Amino acid sequence: SPRKSRGEGKGEGLRGNAPTIYQLENLTMRNTPSLENYWMPFTANRQFKAVPRLLASAEGMYYTDVDGNKILDGTSGLWCVNAGHGRKRIADAVARQLTTMDYAPSFQMGHPIAFDFAEKLGERAPGGPDAKLDRIFFTGSGSESVDTALKIAIAYQRAIGQGTRTRVIGRERGYHGVGFGGISVGGLVNNRRVFPMLPGTDHLRHTHNPERNSFVKGLPAHGAELADDLERLVALHGAETIAAVIVEPVAGSTGVLLPPQGYLERLRAIADRHGILLIFDEVITGFGRLGAPFAVDYFGVVPDLVTTAKGLTNGAIPMGAVFSSRHIHDALMHGPENQIELFHGYTYSGHPAACAAGLATLEIYEEEGLLSRGAELAPYWQDAIHSLNGLPNIIDIRTIGLVAGIELSSRKDAPGARAYEIFTDCFKKGLLIRVTGDIIALSPPLIVERGEIDTIVSVLGESIRRIS
Ligand code: PLP
Repeated sequence: SPRKSRGEGKGEGLRGNAPTIYQLENLTMRNTPSLENYWMPFTANRQFKAVPRLLASAEGMYYTDVDGNKILDGTSGLWCVNAGHGRKRIADAVARQLTTMDYAPSFQMGHPIAFDFAEKLGERAPGGPDAKLDRIFFTGSGSESVDTALKIAIAYQRAIGQGTRTRVIGRERGYHGVGFGGISVGGLVNNRRVFPMLPGTDHLRHTHNPERNSFVKGLPAHGAELADDLERLVALHGAETIAAVIVEPVAGSTGVLLPPQGYLERLRAIADRHGILLIFDEVITGFGRLGAPFAVDYFGVVPDLVTTAKGLTNGAIPMGAVFSSRHIHDALMHGPENQIELFHGYTYSGHPAACAAGLATLEIYEEEGLLSRGAELAPYWQDAIHSLNGLPNIIDIRTIGLVAGIELSSRKDAPGARAYEIFTDCFKKGLLIRVTGDIIALSPPLIVERGEIDTIVSVLGESIRRIS
């Protein structure tokens, strides 16, 4: 269908002709909401509200905006809708659960569905047969999973008599959500500069090096030695002060940065040598993004804790989970039987509706083979994305599984502006991409077909040419 131009005039499409935004019976929501009250996260609110982009419905690979335009989802929402949009099975499971029991606390009581979901996740948990991370702590988001994992690590060290180990180490250009723990180990200056940090945190250097590793297919050859930064921090602070190191196996939000060959193995070995726990933040890489259930499976490196969220429930209901090794879990269970072992948890930990969504999501992943579909499509995806090589301003292309990062040279006067223009241009043409600085990130739902990959590449290529 011909695409209407949008964005001329303040929210014109929204206010003008959007009779079908809210079709919920018995709700009296107006179809012309004011844009004033909602304080949007990670958004230039004033810029956005001047020219809003509003999505109204979603099915399969597509969103539909309030003007009725279809938009191909090249990003699985925010890296989360791995099984595609509008999965009836998930909606039905949630509705069934909400009408059976909407909510029940998980403090000093429980409900079967949370145990059921934890058991099913445990069966598929990352790690080898001897090192399964199958003790599961439920949270409400990726940020909560990260803060939970950091706290478990510190509590574990104390439980084994290493109470001086309270320091947590992150990495430059890491994104671990927005809790105080997450921003402290995170490596994004804009998220950190205004706020006080957790005391004692420190960072490895990032591994991004487009000068040495540009346009590489597969993992970058250079940079494994950067894992030795952990040795440097041990020498600086003393191993006896360090509880854990956390990294994203593939850094997603900061531009799809792949680990150099051997890097994760080296980090594991150094952490082991010094009694430091290794945490993989798999909020993005978990649940099939790389073509394996987890990055742990993809790389064959097993950490002590894994944080997840997003694909856990296909993005349908907010939920996160921390996968813990048994030895960490068991060490914390050794105290007096009548005492709470870990003073930590959330009102919504193991929320029944979220567990219902998660169980239905797992079933879909398994029945449709989605956790390995990325591996099947990866060669096609890689070739398609690398075909953009040679277009103006592209200085690097990286892919792994069903993820891609396309890095542009920055305009000196306006870093990020070039990618943002491409983002808005693609949106107008019916393609949703994500940009971070001058890096374009793609991560389509794992149900994507080859034809849709071709569309993503041709629309994006056209925009890159046009904006140059
Ligand atoms: N960790 C990683 C690796 C992420 O990519 C994100 C979100 O993008 C988070 C943590 C935070 O998750 P949430 O936004 O659900 O709090």
